[in-house]
Amino acid sequence: MKIYRVGGAVRDALLGLPVKDIDYLVLGSTPEQMVAAGFTPVGKDFPVFLHPKTQAEYALARTERKSAPGYHGFVFHCAPDVTIEQDLQRRDLTINAMAIAEDTGESDALNSVIIDPFGGQKDLAEKIFRHVSAAFSEDPVRILRVARFAARFNEFTVAPETIHLMRAMVTAGEVDALVPERVWQEIARGLMEAQPSRMMLVLRESGTLARIMPELDAIWDDSGSESELGMLQIVDNTAQRGLSLAVRWAALLSDLAGTANLAQQLCARLKVPTEVRDITLMALREQTQIELAITLTAEAIVQLFERCDAFRRPARFIEMLQAALCRQVTWPAPQLAYLEHALATAQAVPSGQIAQATAQLFPKQPQQIASAIAAARVDAIRYFTD
Ligand code: ATP
Ligand code: MG
Repeated sequence: MKIYRVGGAVRDALLGLPVKDIDYLVLGSTPEQMVAAGFTPVGKDFPVFLHPKTQAEYALARTERKSAPGYHGFVFHCAPDVTIEQDLQRRDLTINAMAIAEDTGESDALNSVIIDPFGGQKDLAEKIFRHVSAAFSEDPVRILRVARFAARFNEFTVAPETIHLMRAMVTAGEVDALVPERVWQEIARGLMEAQPSRMMLVLRESGTLARIMPELDAIWDDSGSESELGMLQIVDNTAQRGLSLAVRWAALLSDLAGTANLAQQLCARLKVPTEVRDITLMALREQTQIELAITLTAEAIVQLFERCDAFRRPARFIEMLQAALCRQVTWPAPQLAYLEHALATAQAVPSGQIAQATAQLFPKQPQQIASAIAAARVDAIRYFTD
């Protein structure tokens, strides 16, 4: 039995980046032997085990063959005779297809012990994403992964032959077999990287965008016009500002503001989580009002709060404000502090006492309570809207 570090851990070490989680690969073992050694099996489809002490993931070396289209159609062959080269060959990119034996001494120079049958170090130095073998085309998730890595390693480019292969996969309908949850998972991860626009460019260039987000593909502007802040710049700004996933997703969809049903349709098809979807649709709906916040009357502001359930969900409301203001060049946008202050002021109104007093005055008219509270909130914020 021999153990290797593989994948992202090797790549990141060579790049001089901090290594977060280490993936281990085990050669010359069987599931029975792993269990006998105290490892816990995880995952039904994959021969992956958790280390008894460190809980790190150990995968048995395997080869795989495609049996059906899409992401589920794999059959794995995992046996003690699978070689390290065979295992590395089924990986997505050459920069992810390198290994280091675990018994490598601390003093050994990293590049002298690296197992790199597919030129990963060269591609790393040249900043190229290149597929390992033609088997790349057997898993459409790999397209999404390349796009996501482009957003993270933003100086890398995709090899022309890899783009070509990705286009062929799209044409063959491979991308259509992806389950929405998996698409969303990869998109969400890519949005949280440093430069999400680069993910979008890879998706567009490979033809994937037209399949998974046709609503955005249809309004894509290749002209790179500088006149207006483009979608790509807007979403990169949200990343630079360190904003949340919901805000970044809303920024990506901000060009759909005039056609909310398209945004809704896109969120539904990708099964976007409820919270992210609600923030997005609310931001699209309220964008114009919020951009004009400084000019709104106190009544209009309180109505905005009520429409957005801001009194019960203040944190979500603030996130939604950030999303609605994603096109603002100055950050933080002045409207943000203005509306936050207005909300705090309206929140400070003693709504419980007002409700009680109103109920005594109008015992048979409960609708009076809501309007009395609203009126008090309007009064409270009027002093700085006027
Ligand atoms: P990250 O830093 O995001 O964790 P990573 O490269 O470590 O990046 P993982 O998802 O942790 O990515 O996967 C570990 C390794 O497994 C990858 O480096 C790659 O070699 C391989 N791998 C993961 N998913 C796939 C896939 N869909 N197709 C081929 N190889 C894959
Ligand atoms: Mg990893």
